[in-house]
Amino acid sequence: MAENDITGAAPAALPGQAPERRRAAPLIDIGINLAHDSYDADRGSVIARAEAAGVVQMIVTGSSAESSRTAIALSRQHAGRLFATAGVHPHHATELSATVLTELGELAAAPEVVAVGECGLDYFRNYSPHAAQREGFHRQLQLAARCGKPVFLHQREAHGDFIAILREHWPALAGGVAHCFTGGAAELECYLELGLAIGIAGWICDERRGAHLLELVRRIPADRLLLETDGPYLLPRNLHPKPPSRRNEPVYLAHIAAVVARARGEPAESLARSSTAAARRLFRIPDVDSSNNS
Ligand SMILES: [Zn+2]
Repeated sequence: MAENDITGAAPAALPGQAPERRRAAPLIDIGINLAHDSYDADRGSVIARAEAAGVVQMIVTGSSAESSRTAIALSRQHAGRLFATAGVHPHHATELSATVLTELGELAAAPEVVAVGECGLDYFRNYSPHAAQREGFHRQLQLAARCGKPVFLHQREAHGDFIAILREHWPALAGGVAHCFTGGAAELECYLELGLAIGIAGWICDERRGAHLLELVRRIPADRLLLETDGPYLLPRNLHPKPPSRRNEPVYLAHIAAVVARARGEPAESLARSSTAAARRLFRIPDVDSSNNS
């Protein structure tokens, strides 16, 4: 897609206009790894830039006990704007000892935590043995069922095992999202049939690997389509100009939303409205209190 095809992104603020008074369609980044050390030097500005661009709320991904703790701490500092997930990524499945699992249970109970995860299976990188990944996935789905929170799911090259385990636990779960969906039509149909929400990230902006998603996003019901950057990863390939750091951050969510809206043949405004409502419903996130400028 050519850069001048990207329409519908939030308009720039008028000179002298305070960012919070902008009328951009509010967006929620449901997957941002804000605990990642690439944000250590300027995390506050990253959050401020995102809010000024209409990303009114964000869910900070926890992918280990440590990053889950950081995600919760950030959510406390930015109450009502940032929320957290608590979980152990399949890459770190071998870290999920009984002690860590107990700690994860305590973290998941925190009011700032809106989902258990990210958890799932990754047979692409294979940083942890498959058996440990499956075991960790089972345990975290049980945890999600116990605390009554939805699951934030990661799956790569592991669809068969992933869906079999998920189906086993699904009746006890409070819903979930297949985050950063990159799969094909069959996987999508399977997830939709089960009842999952689908997280679309900047992968759709990648003309080499993500072009199939331009067609697939049309099949996702509006009330189950969520948007995420997955920053600092997955900087949208069709973003121009690109930041010299090549680091992705939530301010680019409007760019991803514009690409998704265009692929679906709907105004960016309506996608923003539906995806924000869908995120608030799944994760039980309250509307932003505009008087609470944290
Ligand atoms: Zn992931």
